[in-house]
Amino acid sequence: MATVLVLTAHGDDMEFFAGGTIAKLCMLGHDVHLLMATDNTKGTFELSWDEMFGLRMREAQAAAKVLGLKSVSCLDYPDGELSDTPLNVLRGQFMEAVRRLRPEMVFTFDPWAPYEGHQDHRAVAWAAMEATSFSRFPLYYPEQLKAGLEPWLVPEMYYFAKSPVDTNRPVDISGEPVRKKIEALWCYDSQMVLTLREAQLQIESAPYDVPEITSLDPHDYREFIERRVLTTAAAVGKRYGFEHGEHFRRTRWGGTERLAAPGSVPADEW
Ligand SMILES: [Zn+2]
Repeated sequence: MATVLVLTAHGDDMEFFAGGTIAKLCMLGHDVHLLMATDNTKGTFELSWDEMFGLRMREAQAAAKVLGLKSVSCLDYPDGELSDTPLNVLRGQFMEAVRRLRPEMVFTFDPWAPYEGHQDHRAVAWAAMEATSFSRFPLYYPEQLKAGLEPWLVPEMYYFAKSPVDTNRPVDISGEPVRKKIEALWCYDSQMVLTLREAQLQIESAPYDVPEITSLDPHDYREFIERRVLTTAAAVGKRYGFEHGEHFRRTRWGGTERLAAPGSVPADEW
């Protein structure tokens, strides 16, 4: 069984971008660990900082239980300010997690994808890509080796994005995985209220109305979120012949596949 590490900025990032795939990996018996960089304390229109700080791990742990994660942890950087953190510091913390957990697969934001407006997502993307690219080199962050960790080569990277590019790894999440994705998202109550309220504010600023959304109480988000997830997953799935799908830009084995004898590269098993 493989070890999988997911590096994200906020609670609900993993669930929105890869929740079905992560549910599937957990169902297959793989060990999935989630490391979030920020404390999620700015994602609200109605709660205080203290209330948000108290919720961040509770919501993440409830979602982790639905998906079947092995662990969930948080670096507690202030939400929305991650690009103020020196890149080498965040890179080092991600590298420490990689060397400690020794994952065969890492999921994170794609630093090369366009149109990413959130500075926290961009900061995680660069730090995570660099951490996993250099964790195998013993002279990078040598203090980690002195502390007992060993270099580790991450064989496979799975990148996700709002506007993904060069996707080459579709995953069929039809059935239970997509249901678990929706249920896991519902666990992030504060973030789902925010997601619906944000959609309402955008519509209210537009010269039209979408009454089935603007007429909702933002706390009554379940059907809205479910519809949004299923619509997106159906559109992705249609490209690959699945009912519901997610897809990623995957890089593996440093591109050495092209050097391998024909037929010797194993097919994807999940
Ligand atoms: Zn986010």
